[in-house]
Order: sequence, then C-alpha cells, then structure tokens
Amino acid sequence: MPLLLVILDGMPDRSLNGKTPLSVAKKPNMDALADLGVNGIMDVVAPGVRPGSDTSHLALLGYDPYKYYTGRGPIEAAGVGIEVKPGDVAFRANFATVEGEGSIFEKVVVDRRAGRIQDTKELIKAIREEVELPVDFYIERGSGHRAAVVFRGEGLQAEVSDVDPKVVGAKVKKANALNEEAQKTAEIVNEFVQKVHEVLDKHPINEERQKAGLPKANALLLRGAGIAPRIPSFKDKYNLKLCVIAAAAIVKGVGAIVGGKTVTPDGATGNKFTDVNAKLKCALRELKHSDVVLLHFKATDELGHDGDFDGKREFIEKVDSAFEDLLNLDACIILTSDHSTPVKTREHTADPVPIAMVHENVRRDEVTKFSEFEAFKGGLCRIRGLDVMNIALDLLDLAKKFGA
Ligand code: ZN
Ligand code: ZN
Repeated sequence: MPLLLVILDGMPDRSLNGKTPLSVAKKPNMDALADLGVNGIMDVVAPGVRPGSDTSHLALLGYDPYKYYTGRGPIEAAGVGIEVKPGDVAFRANFATVEGEGSIFEKVVVDRRAGRIQDTKELIKAIREEVELPVDFYIERGSGHRAAVVFRGEGLQAEVSDVDPKVVGAKVKKANALNEEAQKTAEIVNEFVQKVHEVLDKHPINEERQKAGLPKANALLLRGAGIAPRIPSFKDKYNLKLCVIAAAAIVKGVGAIVGGKTVTPDGATGNKFTDVNAKLKCALRELKHSDVVLLHFKATDELGHDGDFDGKREFIEKVDSAFEDLLNLDACIILTSDHSTPVKTREHTADPVPIAMVHENVRRDEVTKFSEFEAFKGGLCRIRGLDVMNIALDLLDLAKKFGA
C-alpha cells in the first residue's frame, strides 16, 4: 500500500478573534479525513523554530535539516532540473540590466529583473554554447527572470560573496572569497559573470529589446552560493520510490536532491489559479508507480504572505473540492502542512501545524474536523516533522525492529 503525503504549504494560521482560514473554511473532505484518522499537531523542524519550505520538506521526508541543509542554491538548482552532485557549487541568478562603460564590474544595475523578462530560453542557450570556463557549468531557467547556475570541478567552495548588489543604482559586485580556499571559486564566478555579459550584451534578442525600448537582459547576477550536500537518496534510505508533485521549484528541488521523481502536471501553476483536479489526478496516477507521493499546494503560503484571510480560506476550499476521491483511496494518507504562514505575521512562524493520518491501522480518535483548534485533541498528540516517515512506515508494516 502506498503513502500519499498531502502538503498545503503555510496553511495553518494564528487565531484572529478565534478564527483561522482553515477553521472557518468549508472543507467536508478534509474534515472527513480527520474523522477517519488519527490527529495531532507537529513541530515540523523543532518547537519555536520557524521553518523555510526547504528545511521543512527535508524534515517531512525524514532528512534532518540540521545535518543535510546547505542552503537554498543547490535545492533550487535541482528544482529547475539541474542534476546536482555532492560538491557542486550552486547559485540562484537573476537576469538583469546593466549600463555603463568598461567591464561588468564597472557597470551599474538599472533593473534587477531586466523588465521582468519572461522568455530567457535563447539567452540561456547562447550562454551554454559560447561561455568557456576552466570548470564545467550548468544553467537552467527558473520562472520569469530567474535562473540557477551550478559549477562543477575540483576544489570548489561555496564561501563566496554575492555578485548581485541587490539594489538598483549600485555597481555589479565582484565575488569575493570569504576564506582562502574559496579564491579559485571567486575567480571562476567573476570570469563567468563577465563572459556572460559579453555574450548577452550583443545578443540579437537584446538588440531587439533595445529597439523596442525594453531593458536589455544583459547580465546574470549570482547570489546565495551553496555547496550541494552529500545526502542519501530516498531509495537508499527507505528502499522506496518517491514522487513529488509540485510547481514550486524549492519543493521540487527537495524531491530531486534526494533522487525522487518530480512532476508538474499541466495546469499546476504554484499559485491560487492552479488546477487542483489535475494535480489530484496526477497523484492518483503516480500512486500506481511510486511508494511515496508528496502532493504539494503552494498558494496557501502565498496568500498568507499577502495577508489575505479570505483568499487563503477560499483556496483551502478549492483544494478540498478535489479531495473526494481520497476518502476511498487504498493508501495511507497524511494531510498536513510544512509550517504556518499567518495572515497577520505575513511570514512563516513556528506555530505547530495540524496533521491527520488515515490508515486502517491507526487508532482512530474523536477529532472530526481538520483545524488548528481540533488537531491537538487527537491521538497523535505532538510530533516532529522527522517522525512522519517513521510513523507512516510503521503503519504500513515497513518499519524495522530496533533491538532484539
Ligand atoms: Zn512552505
Ligand atoms: Zn512562504
């Protein structure tokens, strides 16, 4: 029997006059899952620790983020489809507009998003074909003006400063080595940034953009260096096949970095317009080939960051409307979140998240509604994110005995 792990990113909230978007949402199917299952609350990383979506998803898959998390760069790079290997140094990158004379490091950033350019495919192709470096590099586009860059070679280090000055009107920064061993990496990054600028500045797409009065996408600003972690694959750790269904690069990246399959079905957008039925259908299909399917919805987090109480409630209701088929599904189902994103805070908080586990082996409790205010009355009590896979494996009779 497979495991379906359903995550509504940032769904839980703090009480506003005794209400949360989840507690007031009309969500008969989620409530039915809570009713059928055992419920509890969960500190996804640890009590009082505010998780990122990357560290929390590592924990939910059973990987201690304090041991394996080395920064967002490698996870995002894996999320946009670069095959990241241990020791690779990964960066997040923005296509940007620079102006001035001389080398790129004498030029000024006039638009950090190059007019929010959408299609960077041809520019990336030119970078791949024309830039030569003493080490291998890989580049993939993210959404809009975003991209990820990975360098692979002997002796690379992540201790280098950002090229991105992060403000308009400032000069492009040289990457500096933050320790002696990172000198070579800093030099390679600077060489890369200069050569990319030379390729992009004269590219026909940018000449056309200039004629049309649009800012040229003539620079790639690198930031957030991180070294790819040495992390056991999901297959090696559990002998199980993982599939992650998500649109958000950071969540796909966690799946990819542990060797899982990642799928973004048509219609999945990573925002409130996402096609929830397409995602659910995809999950039901993938459950036939995978042992563990992580089905992720992003918009609850976004709407929390926007401070949009009603939007969050409406999105929870929209997701619920696709969940009817889950009630009779022959699988262990876990319904939960990766952290709270309260509409008042507009940021992630450490408030524990509700969790419901449905399987024929659970000790069903008296909780009948899925909400922050009911979950803690259930039989799971209070667990940590790292406990989820262990508990699921035990329910599925896949756990090994500890001791004699
Ligand atoms: Zn999140
Ligand atoms: Zn967030």
